[in-house]
Amino acid sequence: MQLRMPADLAGKYKSPAQRARVVSEAWGERNLYCANCASPSLTRSAAGTAAVDYSCPECASPFQLKSQSRPLSGRIVDAAYYAMRRAIERASTPNLVALHYDPSQWVVRDAVLIPRFVFSLSCLEKRPPLPVTARRHGWVGCYILLGNIPPDAKIALVTNGVATNPTDVRRQFARLRPLENVRHDARGWTLDVLNVVRRLQEPRRGTPWRAPTEFTLGEVYAFADELARLHPRNKNIEPKIRQQLQELRELGILEFLGRGRYRLW
Ligand SMILES: [Zn+2]
Repeated sequence: MQLRMPADLAGKYKSPAQRARVVSEAWGERNLYCANCASPSLTRSAAGTAAVDYSCPECASPFQLKSQSRPLSGRIVDAAYYAMRRAIERASTPNLVALHYDPSQWVVRDAVLIPRFVFSLSCLEKRPPLPVTARRHGWVGCYILLGNIPPDAKIALVTNGVATNPTDVRRQFARLRPLENVRHDARGWTLDVLNVVRRLQEPRRGTPWRAPTEFTLGEVYAFADELARLHPRNKNIEPKIRQQLQELRELGILEFLGRGRYRLW
C-alpha cells in the first residue's frame, strides 16, 4: 500500500473539498484491496452510485471511503441519514474505510476499516437539516460515531503512517464475519461482550499464567459496571452477559469448557 496520495490530480481543482475528494478517491482506487477475499484491488463504482464507492471484482463486496484531514476520533461525516439508517436495518451497509490524511503533504496518516456487519443504529447520529439558505435545504445528513464501535470491530489499515499487513487485515475481518448472522439491534451487546473477552486476553501484571485464550465467567462479570454504563436501559446485566456468551458460542467465536470456563477460538 502506497501512502503517498496522487497529489498531481488536485491541480485542476480550486475548491479544497473537491481537491480532497478527487485525490482520496484516486488513492483508494490504486491502493485499497478486498478484506473479504484475496483480491488485491477494488474497482471504482460508476459516478452517482449511492453509498458505494468501490466494489470487489472477485466477491462483489461493496466499500465506501470517507476521508478527512482531522484525526479519526469521535465522529465522521457520512451521507444521507435516512438512507444509511435503512441500509443498517436491511443489512445492506457497505464496508466503510475512514481515512485521515495530512493535507499539507498529501499523505495517508491513518485508515480504519469498519466491516459492514458491525454497524448498528447506535453508531449513527442524525445531523440537523440543512438551512433554507442551502441549495439542498431540508436535507439530513449523518455522522458515524466511531466511539460507539468497539475497538475490536475497527480494523486498522494504516496507523500513524504505517500500513498493516493485508494478511492480518483479512484475518481480523474473517474473525468478525460471524456477526453477519446477528440482527443489527442485537449486535451492540454482542460486540461489547466480545470486546471485554478480547481485553481479557491481554497479559495482565500480577495474574497467574494460564492458557492465553481461556477465561472465566467471573472475569467477564468484573466488567458489569462498564457494560451497564454502555447499556443504561438494561437492568439485568449478568443474565445478559451469559446470553451474549451463548450467542458468541453459537457464532463459533468461543467454546464453553464447563464450570464457568470458556475458550476463545
Ligand atoms: Zn473480495
